[in-house]
Amino acid sequence: MNVNIINMSAIVKMIVSSSIVKKTWQIHKLFSENEEYSLKNLIRSIHHLLKYERILQHQNTFVISSFIPPINTKAFGSLFDGIPGSGGNLFENFVKGKRKFPVWINIDITSRYPNNKYLDGDSGFSERHFNDMEREKLISLINEIQDMGVGIIGLAGGEPLLRNDLEEIVENIDDRSVSYVYSTGYGLTSQRARDLKSAGLYGIIIDFQSMNEGEHDEKMGFNGAYHYAVNAIENSKKAELYTVSRTFCNRELLEKETMLEFIKFLGQCGVDEVRLMEPMPFGKSGRISRDELFTDDERKKLIELHMLCNKDANLPKVSVCSYFESREMFGCGAAGYYSFIDIHGDLYPCDYIPFNFGNVFETPIKALWKKMYKSFETPEVHCRSLICLGKMERDKFQQYPQRVKTLPESCKTCCGQVTPGFYKILGGEK
Ligand code: SF4
Repeated sequence: MNVNIINMSAIVKMIVSSSIVKKTWQIHKLFSENEEYSLKNLIRSIHHLLKYERILQHQNTFVISSFIPPINTKAFGSLFDGIPGSGGNLFENFVKGKRKFPVWINIDITSRYPNNKYLDGDSGFSERHFNDMEREKLISLINEIQDMGVGIIGLAGGEPLLRNDLEEIVENIDDRSVSYVYSTGYGLTSQRARDLKSAGLYGIIIDFQSMNEGEHDEKMGFNGAYHYAVNAIENSKKAELYTVSRTFCNRELLEKETMLEFIKFLGQCGVDEVRLMEPMPFGKSGRISRDELFTDDERKKLIELHMLCNKDANLPKVSVCSYFESREMFGCGAAGYYSFIDIHGDLYPCDYIPFNFGNVFETPIKALWKKMYKSFETPEVHCRSLICLGKMERDKFQQYPQRVKTLPESCKTCCGQVTPGFYKILGGEK
């Protein structure tokens, strides 16, 4: 068995942790009610999950990646509590990737941005004015999301740090979920980082788009962005927040092979985890043309970085979204694993899918999510956003968002026939 040796000390600590042993035993007992389940396959699937991951200990928690709730937290339970059914049916539904609520929801809580403009998923930077998501409505939405059982809540924007009530919002997220703030770094002083930590924030995800100061500032849309990001990483680390950088990788970064150098630089800045995303045409990654989307070979190259870096102790931990959501791992997480709510309260299966299914301030999110999930129930090993974008006519490519409450019945685009790798192994397939 090819074990990632870099994880050995974390694995030993986890084995002697009574809460982890208890949780693993509970999962084993739960799945044992199905005769198709075997402990050997559970171990094989865990090995498959960890093969190219670096487990980090962050204070008293263990992190596989920022895409998964830390292992020994209440929030980790959302992975299993969200499986529909009971008894032997639970295991069957788990290996089919079925969910009764998502593991992770991001919410755009403001469209205010450091350049005195507003960030809108529709049009990028704009002069249009949107208010922050109203605090009382947001807090009650967060309560509903926690009552559903969601394990990760991401507060995004715009720049969430521009909200003076961010600490109060974070304080309202109890330990059933871990919370992350997505930020440019603007305004993350050491005091603010400590206040957010005291309010219960688990981690911060800081956008970092280039090692070159001028290029980063330009991409982020305001002067000084580079310095804000560097300082924010330092302040976040000092406050003991789990610190992640996020880069939307492009062809230039891949082709010049500067990505490895960039990853080293981010490690020197002090991040715990480097998150790498593919270029996507919508949302905060900016408006790009169809030609800028990655080819299969380019995606493979990006995934290889994930595998390479996590085995090399001289490099920081790297999480490539396209690896986590690949055919070999969990497939596309849209709706089932992940959902997104924009500044207006519109619910999407993913930031990058240009269809929303209604508004969480008009219909309770639990009911709305159930409706949305019906169109995404079958696991899909390809990125649904890319499937959808690939079918769009060139001139419609950047039209976003479209308001669709139910997909046409004839739409079979995202109904996958192939089970993603992790579930296959757990289900006993060779
Ligand atoms: S649509 Fe693409 S980006 Fe969105 S969850 Fe699925 S794989 Fe990820």
